[in-house]
Amino acid sequence: MSSFLRPWSWLVLAALVPSGPDASVAADVPVRARPTRPAAETGPVTSLRLGNFDYVSATDLAVWLGLKGAWTEPLRKLTLTDKANPDNRAEINVDNRDTLIDGRRVLLGNKAVLRNGRLYVSRIDAEKCIAPLLRPGLGVPLPPPPRIIALDPGHGGKFAGTENKSLGLQEKDLALDVALRLRGLLEKAGYKVVMTRTTDVALGPDLTTDWTTRSLIANHAGADLFVSIHFNSLFPDTKTTGTEVFTFPPQFQRSDQSWSEGVDDTERMPSPVNRFDHWSAVLAGAMHRDVLAALQTTDRGKKLKHLAVLRGLNCPGVLVESAFLSNDAEARRVATPEFRQQIAGALAAGVRDYGAILDSLRPGPQPPAATMAAPAASISR
Ligand SMILES: [Zn+2]
Repeated sequence: MSSFLRPWSWLVLAALVPSGPDASVAADVPVRARPTRPAAETGPVTSLRLGNFDYVSATDLAVWLGLKGAWTEPLRKLTLTDKANPDNRAEINVDNRDTLIDGRRVLLGNKAVLRNGRLYVSRIDAEKCIAPLLRPGLGVPLPPPPRIIALDPGHGGKFAGTENKSLGLQEKDLALDVALRLRGLLEKAGYKVVMTRTTDVALGPDLTTDWTTRSLIANHAGADLFVSIHFNSLFPDTKTTGTEVFTFPPQFQRSDQSWSEGVDDTERMPSPVNRFDHWSAVLAGAMHRDVLAALQTTDRGKKLKHLAVLRGLNCPGVLVESAFLSNDAEARRVATPEFRQQIAGALAAGVRDYGAILDSLRPGPQPPAATMAAPAASISR
């Protein structure tokens, strides 16, 4: 981590270090001597090693983030809460990756564990998943305001993506339609938009070339953000519905895919997009909130996946699966232009809200940034 620290962090840290009888975690776990360097620079101290992973205690994580920690279900669920804003919280479950952050489902890269009555999360999750969502300005340099947005309509040409044959729907067509609508909204708001495709074409003779070309187009354009637009499918399961938002796993962390299949797919070499893990998580958090609020879909979570389309990016990137084409009811919604306009509006709100988060962390006079009226479907922050 770099040595960047916002002035307010000191105040928060000083004011909110757990103390007194209501600081349940601090009461359970004696807080060790703090390191001589400020916690915001170093991150929480490592206090446990399991396999190849460093773990930090919930107590140290709470101190680092300036939150209060307490068991909401003894030895099963621990909640870290911002005293000043109780909606700003993480609910962490023992022996589980499933976490709620600000009320939305987030899949950690590693299970939280219980040792000697104390809850621990992996350092990577603490620093690259929980901190960006709860304290986006903590410990990392701010990127410039987003101005060039790369939009990537998934699939195209001979690569159709998923299909709902009975309804005659192809993912590639729907993704392109949403992307074109989103381009209109973003350009109207003053952003420069780069599209990886604007017609029904594949971007390479094989899938690997097709995927990597998408990030190359974004990099060549100097994109500040990358948003890949997809629709989901779980055929033969036709019941599942909902929204998923993906980022590329941090180095040394396995993907959501690997957990469900039971095979560790950890990558030990860093990928280019790993330089932006923190801001990809912040972007994903904004997208996740805005899409769920606008579409009122089932929250299937913010997840990690080794997606070739994100791997080579020189900027933060997310892949959004707004809804399932394998569920007929949801697919029928996606088939309507009104719903696709709602998706575009929600993704535009996500871009705008990501920029607003950066602006809120920037000291001094705010630079002129692209502005946008909130789409009717989005919620206020
Ligand atoms: Zn897709």
